[in-house]
Amino acid sequence: MPDLRSSFTLERTPLDLRFRTVTLTAREQLAPNYVRVRLEGDDLFGFTSLGSDDHMRLFFPDEMPDTVEELRAAPSREYTPLAWGENWLDVEFAIHGDEGVAARWAATAPLGAKIGVGGPRGSAVITGTPGSWFLIGDETALPAIRRFASLIGGQPARIVVEVRGREDEVDVSAPVAVEWLHRGDAPAGSALIEFLDGLDESDAVGSDPFVFVAAEQSIVKPGRALLKRWGVDSASAIVKGYWKRGETEYHAPH
Ligand SMILES: Cc1cc2nc3c(=O)[nH]c(=O)nc-3n(C[C@H](O)[C@H](O)[C@H](O)COP(=O)(O)OP(=O)(O)OC[C@H]3O[C@@H](n4cnc5c(N)ncnc54)[C@H](O)[C@@H]3O)c2cc1C
Repeated sequence: MPDLRSSFTLERTPLDLRFRTVTLTAREQLAPNYVRVRLEGDDLFGFTSLGSDDHMRLFFPDEMPDTVEELRAAPSREYTPLAWGENWLDVEFAIHGDEGVAARWAATAPLGAKIGVGGPRGSAVITGTPGSWFLIGDETALPAIRRFASLIGGQPARIVVEVRGREDEVDVSAPVAVEWLHRGDAPAGSALIEFLDGLDESDAVGSDPFVFVAAEQSIVKPGRALLKRWGVDSASAIVKGYWKRGETEYHAPH
């Protein structure tokens, strides 16, 4: 009898919710519309993020308030902790025109500017080893994809990322080459949707895959349909809308 047990599970782990004040200390332009920033502060002591697609809430007050209550009233958006140390935290931002309080801040705030960080308040942690990896997303999912890619051992893997064009491709450290899809002037997500819809059972990257799909919200339906076609249990996969066209401050269902 074949062993039908999966080689991994996604374990939900809660974390104590903490709010921190951090200072922008460096900005690196990785592509014309993609920046990495370094945030620093002694408040970051003890910061941790156990899951590769964890999100924290970044708060953008006009001036740093004295109380957590006031900070929580400021505009806020969700971002992925990319890397961190005792007193620093790196975050990558997709810049979309001159829209968005978060993207504008990441592109233009002067070094020394302060923002708030809340969370992460919980993680989905891969426990065990997937038989294969299928990591799919747009620019907003790149930080999570970078983190998942660092977990890949010798297993078969595919990483597919949609960006506008060749100039938007960034270096990704991974055991397999990233397959870049260019949407050009088509709506965000359209190249990924076409790609996902074109995959059938015989295109599965390997057995017992961990599937991560995150991009503009319209990716969710084709992402879930793929899980069905491949017979992947949705409890051990992540398919998420990371933002929604035309909607400010989109809250992804968790
Ligand atoms: C779990 C999670 C993790 C995330 N991690 C990251 C991350 O690490 N890096 C990252 O860049 N994003 C990440 N995002 C997405 C990010 O939260 C949204 O893109 C957010 O809306 C950006 O805020 P904003 O203030 O720039 O724009 P908003 O004020 O929220 O939106 C203003 C307008 O811009 C549009 N818009 C928003 N985002 C984009 C986009 N990427 N491209 C084109 N148009 C857009 C909106 O539809 C709206 O019309 C994550 C989202 C989730 C749910």
